[in-house]
Amino acid sequence: MSMTGNAPAGNAPGVRPGRLSAAEIDRNFSDLHPPLARSEALIEADRCYFCYDAPCTTACPTGIDIPGFIQKIRSGNIKGSAHTILRENIMGGMCARVCPTEVLCEEACVRNTHEDKPVRIGLLQRYATDPVLDNNVALFSRAAPSGRRVAVVGAGPAGLSCAHRLAVLGHDVVVFNRDPKPGGLNEYGIAAYKTVDDFAQREVEYILEIGSIEIANGVVFGRDTALAELREEFDAVFLSVGLAGSNELGIENEDAEGVLNAINYIRDLRQAADKSMLPVGRRVVVIGGGMTAIDVAVQSKLLGAETVDLVYRRGPDAMGASGYEQALAQTNGVTIRHWAKPARILADKRVHGVEFEQTALDAGGNLVGTGAFRVLEADIVFKAVGQNLAFDLGADDVLLQRHKGKLIVDEERRTSLPGVWAGGDCVADGEDLTVTAVQHGKVAAISIDRYLREELSVDRQPHTRSAHHG
Ligand SMILES: Cc1cc2nc3c(=O)[nH]c(=O)nc-3n(C[C@H](O)[C@H](O)[C@H](O)COP(=O)(O)OP(=O)(O)OC[C@H]3O[C@@H](n4cnc5c(N)ncnc54)[C@H](O)[C@@H]3O)c2cc1C
Ligand code: SF4
Repeated sequence: MSMTGNAPAGNAPGVRPGRLSAAEIDRNFSDLHPPLARSEALIEADRCYFCYDAPCTTACPTGIDIPGFIQKIRSGNIKGSAHTILRENIMGGMCARVCPTEVLCEEACVRNTHEDKPVRIGLLQRYATDPVLDNNVALFSRAAPSGRRVAVVGAGPAGLSCAHRLAVLGHDVVVFNRDPKPGGLNEYGIAAYKTVDDFAQREVEYILEIGSIEIANGVVFGRDTALAELREEFDAVFLSVGLAGSNELGIENEDAEGVLNAINYIRDLRQAADKSMLPVGRRVVVIGGGMTAIDVAVQSKLLGAETVDLVYRRGPDAMGASGYEQALAQTNGVTIRHWAKPARILADKRVHGVEFEQTALDAGGNLVGTGAFRVLEADIVFKAVGQNLAFDLGADDVLLQRHKGKLIVDEERRTSLPGVWAGGDCVADGEDLTVTAVQHGKVAAISIDRYLREELSVDRQPHTRSAHHG
């Protein structure tokens, strides 16, 4: 088991694998929301009011016709229901597992009142899509080949969604992907108890069944291939590289042993054949307030850490993680401490604690330190203070407009460079969610298709570009 980051491979004082038995770990990492049985699904489907202009559909970033798919579940048409979902969101299976429905479709459900509960849309979506993926039921076919080729950079939700829609529209796609496996954070990031077994890879296989999508894994854009090259060799380019860089704390002793990048640890955890072999701290401190911070905190606890403190510099409302995620962490024994920022890591080569300064808002609403300090002892400290877009596009970089380091795109996901689209976490607008990335990929593919067809109608000569990749 590799332990990426700057830590020893376990067995430092206070850090060891096997804190829990394999059976306990299996139990801890079982499905967070187990699938509905048929009778449960029918009862849940009956709870839907089938609203006209349904607010849940408006609240879904991919615009799934939610009353439509629930109605089909009621009438026993599971395949039709799955088609209604997947035609808008080809990763409807993963989204059913990972969408923060409490702030999306289910929050908008008219049954979501003090006296009642929203329809469990996510679980119904899973009920409809699982059989289609389990049995590899083909629901889409390709349009006549256009002869056009599109390069997609990154095989995460944005890239795969774009590739699938382009393939359906008749274009050939080559996906260049840094990681050894496709799927992006579905494979390497999402909490293990949200997507158990090999669902992420099964979903990728389902997507690739459409044909004419080639994936070149292990190809690093910016090192093995450049934007100028792709623009030359392909008819259009979609950038969906996610956020590969991790933000630093910028404090003393940040590089001490035992101070880890949360993303790297989660990645190891998701790839571990036996989670009981992962080194786990006895006392864990997590710094950050987003989904990554919550996920590394909860999973550390589920792996057997005795104490896990998650420290965030502002109050609960400012946290990137939803109220539901915060409650989930607390239910699992994570202590969330607000209004404190790390002042320095305490270490003699190895970390043994973190000194935090209490924070508050001043009269102008700015976050300030109060001068009151407090130490939390720790064997492992996780940094989870956000990611950034870590690549340099050489000469083309200056032409790609950015906002706070992320790429600027218009409503069709076009960048400032002609023929180049971008979507998912690497673009400036939109929340960093799986479902948002899927929508970006879909919207970009529709825009690319229109662009290519306009080009085709201008230039009726057979297309002659012939570069090969992968
Ligand atoms: C720990 C964690 C937990 C999360 N949990 C949830 C959740 O529960 N629910 C939810 O909705 N969202 C969650 N998210 C957010 C969600 O995972 C992302 O918003 C989503 O994956 C973004 O998709 P993407 O396609 O833009 O990028 P990614 O999923 O990051 O995929 C990027 C792809 O690009 C490739 N790549 C990167 N750099 C290069 C390069 N230079 N050259 C070639 N290829 C490259 C990578 O190999 C990868 O395959 C979570 C994120 C994290 C970090
Ligand atoms: S994709 Fe997500 S937000 Fe949209 S309906 Fe499904 S669970 Fe809700």
